Parts: sequence; C-alpha cells; structure tokens
Amino acid sequence: MLIPTSCCLCSVSDETRDHLFVDCPYIKILWGLMLRKLSGSLISFTSWTQLLGWSSSDSTTSPRTLRSIAVQATIYHTWTERNNMVYRSQTLSASDLFRLVDRTIRNTISARKTRKEFKNLMVLWLI
Ligand SMILES: [Zn+2]
Repeated sequence: MLIPTSCCLCSVSDETRDHLFVDCPYIKILWGLMLRKLSGSLISFTSWTQLLGWSSSDSTTSPRTLRSIAVQATIYHTWTERNNMVYRSQTLSASDLFRLVDRTIRNTISARKTRKEFKNLMVLWLI
C-alpha cells in the first residue's frame, strides 16, 4: 500500500505524531475550539509534552478528567479523519470535526454521570 509521507490534512509537513497532533494547522483549529471552552489563556499547544502536561493537570474550570476526555476525543477523531482522508479521500472541515469531538465528550460524560469524578463535568463542558 502506497501511503504518502506528507500530512494528508495539510500537505505542508511530513506526517509525524507531533505534526499530526500538535503542529498541523488543521489540529490547531480543533485545539483552539476545545481550549476556548476549557482554558482561558492557552489557545494552542506548542509541543506533545505540553499537550500531555496540560491534559494531566487540573483547574477549577477544567478538571483533569475533563481535560483527558477532551484530549482523547480530539486525538481519536483526528486519527479517524486522517484515515478517512488516506483511505477514502473524504474530509470534514475542522468545525464539523469539532462537532463530532463535542458529541463524543458529551456521550462519554453522560455514560459515566453516576461516577463521582464525572458529576459536574457536563456543566463545565457546556459553559
Ligand atoms: Zn498537517
């Protein structure tokens, strides 16, 4: 199977973990939309290490559990989008993909709403 080495979402750089999940202009739009909801000051990530550090840290408006769910959903949908582009030549806009991320986050929280650590997450996500 012949798969191009360049990023299929932007065609600007080689496809690496850091590019696909941190540096790609496409994911930067997703992180911007997500961080607008969860972080007052941070507008994007500058490295994989910063992304992991942020997801495992806490604040009153975005607890670690919510951050982890948001990061996992964003990475999952970005990887799915990448595969759809590579194998099916189908692509969504970043804002349409963010709607899927948002739905996944809501479903994840809703499915676990009786657990103590998920109790207030829906309110925090919907603010
Ligand atoms: Zn890219």
